[in-house]
Amino acid sequence: MKPGSGISGGFPVLRRKAKINFRSLHRQALVVDLHCDSILDHISGRRDIIRKTRGHIDLPKLEAGGVKVQVFAIFPDPKKIKAGEYESFVLHAAVAIRKLCHQHPDRLGLALSPRGLKRLVDQGRIAVVIGVEGGHALEGNLDRIYRFFRAGVRVLTLTWCNSNELADASWDKNRPHNGLSPQGREAVRIMNRLGMIIDLSHAAEASFYQALELSSAPVIASHSGVYALRRHNRNLKNDQLSALAQQGGMMGQVFLPAFLCPDPGRASINNVIHSIDYVVQKFGPGVIGLGSDFDGFSGRLKGLENAGKLPEITRRLLQLGYTEPDVRKILGLNFFRVWQEVWDNRAVTS
Ligand SMILES: [Zn+2]
Repeated sequence: MKPGSGISGGFPVLRRKAKINFRSLHRQALVVDLHCDSILDHISGRRDIIRKTRGHIDLPKLEAGGVKVQVFAIFPDPKKIKAGEYESFVLHAAVAIRKLCHQHPDRLGLALSPRGLKRLVDQGRIAVVIGVEGGHALEGNLDRIYRFFRAGVRVLTLTWCNSNELADASWDKNRPHNGLSPQGREAVRIMNRLGMIIDLSHAAEASFYQALELSSAPVIASHSGVYALRRHNRNLKNDQLSALAQQGGMMGQVFLPAFLCPDPGRASINNVIHSIDYVVQKFGPGVIGLGSDFDGFSGRLKGLENAGKLPEITRRLLQLGYTEPDVRKILGLNFFRVWQEVWDNRAVTS
């Protein structure tokens, strides 16, 4: 087959030096953001994310930014929520997300499976995926994983900044389990069986490797950065990225300024592009995606001030000489592949 005339892996093969219109590529691509905290403001009534707001993410900005899939993380803040109230907080928030989708059926839909995600995107709607950030939400009760799953949760971040009953966290000096606890190991098995995505952002290195080894399906680190470029406990070391690549998992590149640059005031889209490029050069284009952490930090990242600016990433990657298939992988196909594998690996019990 002549170069440029056929299809390779479902993608058009590019002619060399072909001029690609970044806007049309971005508009057509499956653009996935693996992590944001925006739903918390919505639930608390601080702002209505359906309208234009001052936050990083709202519906008009997601649409302007060509986002096709947004993972909304439910984060039960241990500083604000009392013991015994975590489950009701998560279930209440999951209902609020579902209601949001029902109230705007032409623009949003809840994705409960990779197939459901694809259907929504084909219909021109933004696919919403529900995540829970922090295994502390279980308060040691693994039955809650099943109840969260039934409520629509498809991603669980094993730890937040705090070590919890399941695992040690990267930000916590208190590391009681030396990685995963026996309960954390069981949580991984349950998530594998259900087809829930295991998220290892925030996990301590020992937790990361133990979960990676134990999981029968690929895992993600939804919102992390590259430790070699910015030494921070929230970022992944090269050995971790290499293990992730070998396991078939992927990392969502975070936009949070302090994880990009020792002087957060100087961080910009340049750091994000450099970080993505570093991962691609060292580990290939299959292990990286986008995990903004929008509305999980205050301030603005220069050049990526909000979700509406995401097409700029596509423009910059093309400018670096990336091929269209590689850009599409980074924008979202890597995440889709991982979820499909997690889903195919689940135990079908009914
Ligand atoms: Zn986080």
